[in-house]
Amino acid sequence: VSETKTIREAARDIPVVSTSDVVVVGGGAAGVGAAVSAARLGASVTLLERYPHLGGMASGGMVLVLDDMTNGNEITVQGLMAEYIRRLEQIDCAVYPPEADRRTAEDVWRKWSRWGCNDFHIREKIQPIIYAVAFDPDGWKRVSNDMIKEAGVNLRLHSWFSEAIVEDGRVKGVICETKTGRQAIMGDIVVDTTGDLDVAIRAGAEHVPGGFIVTTVFRLADVDTDKAEAFQYGEPEAYKKIDRQARRLIGGAWEMWWLKTPRPGIVWCNCPHMTGYDGLSVEHLTAAEFEGRERMLRLHDFVRENMPGFENSYLLDTGEQIGVRQTRMLVGDYVVTKDDVTSRRYFEDTVCRGRDYYTPYRALLPRQIDQLIVAGRHYSADPEAQKMSREIPPCLAQGEAAGVAAHLALDSNIRIRDVDPHAIQQQMRRQGADPGDRPSANALTVAAAE
Ligand SMILES: Cc1cc2nc3c(=O)[nH]c(=O)nc-3n(C[C@H](O)[C@H](O)[C@H](O)COP(=O)(O)OP(=O)(O)OC[C@H]3O[C@@H](n4cnc5c(N)ncnc54)[C@H](O)[C@@H]3O)c2cc1C
Repeated sequence: VSETKTIREAARDIPVVSTSDVVVVGGGAAGVGAAVSAARLGASVTLLERYPHLGGMASGGMVLVLDDMTNGNEITVQGLMAEYIRRLEQIDCAVYPPEADRRTAEDVWRKWSRWGCNDFHIREKIQPIIYAVAFDPDGWKRVSNDMIKEAGVNLRLHSWFSEAIVEDGRVKGVICETKTGRQAIMGDIVVDTTGDLDVAIRAGAEHVPGGFIVTTVFRLADVDTDKAEAFQYGEPEAYKKIDRQARRLIGGAWEMWWLKTPRPGIVWCNCPHMTGYDGLSVEHLTAAEFEGRERMLRLHDFVRENMPGFENSYLLDTGEQIGVRQTRMLVGDYVVTKDDVTSRRYFEDTVCRGRDYYTPYRALLPRQIDQLIVAGRHYSADPEAQKMSREIPPCLAQGEAAGVAAHLALDSNIRIRDVDPHAIQQQMRRQGADPGDRPSANALTVAAAE
């Protein structure tokens, strides 16, 4: 057994550069949701982000479809998510099917499936067209900036969290690495929205290791999408043959490996999916970046030669942030199970929801540490449950609920874990969000289970 060689860091004094009521670590969908929600309710909020922009997977990760927001005809993720979509639409950065097109039929399938607006949970050749939104990643950054600025959040970009400051089981702030050295950011409440549970782990929270495929997504420009679709529907057998070969070359892709975006001629390729990589390991991530690039170039060479519509296309860009779906998962006061998600189990303390499932407040609370709350893809769920409940809208909604909880704790001068979930529900409703407190007809409630 080889032992890892170590060196000892010297103790040092670190400047305190910011003190606020709430410190949010990680500026993805969940982090912006938490920061904006708490700041609008009057809390002073500092938001830390390692990259030069906000959005996380939804911008740098170039994940470009908002889904998991609808339970039949009911739109279940509202609030800040609805506001984002409105703002994206105002700057021509969002496209989604109008209500009349949300149905199951060949004509709407042809119109909307290449936008990623089909219900992929239904195992049919022609899936229902549903409310899902294709958006532009730079638009997402812009809207996030606007919302953060308007809410008066103290945003600190280029700040890489590295250590939690914990005293007597209570988190007091965090330390991050920056170009000018280490900095301390102090706060009464810390929200971990890093997606990988970075803060909670350093604070000593219980967790389970997770893992899933990783993806180096990319966009192709100058694609004649009309021509490509005419070929797909006009010569289905010839299309299928070329498409199968393309997917074999990329080695891991959903059936719809290219999707339209709000920018004409630019398509989003949510592939290659790669297995066996740990989304936390420097060695693995480095290797995955290389492998992903090799595979996407292989695919692109092939489609340029063979797929009508792609002849003049070029590689526009690749996700600056590798697509990591799952790493460490919190073991919180309640751990959401796969059965909870698939049976649509309703909880009394539900504070937000996704497609047709409900998220209890307890799933945002670490067991041992006070004044720390989490939101986003690392929430307290077993890894299988997370795979079905981690899309952008529910992560944003969790953040919004965490921000509300932080405000209520500060307002009543109580610990965040002692906030009454019903008070969170009421405030979520006041700000136009759906906290999931009114179970839908298809929910599994205690009465239904008996
Ligand atoms: C390839 C791929 C395809 C997907 N497809 C879809 C889809 O079609 N539709 C959909 O809705 N969802 C999809 N998802 C899921 C979805 O994108 C994510 O689950 C969701 O965006 C997670 O949001 P989050 O805020 O929890 O985390 P993230 O978006 O990961 O945000 C975490 C933020 O924290 C920052 N951060 C992390 N560590 C630190 C640190 N130590 N210090 C400072 N900052 C830090 C990061 O830079 C980032 O900004 C997909 C995911 C992937 C990877």
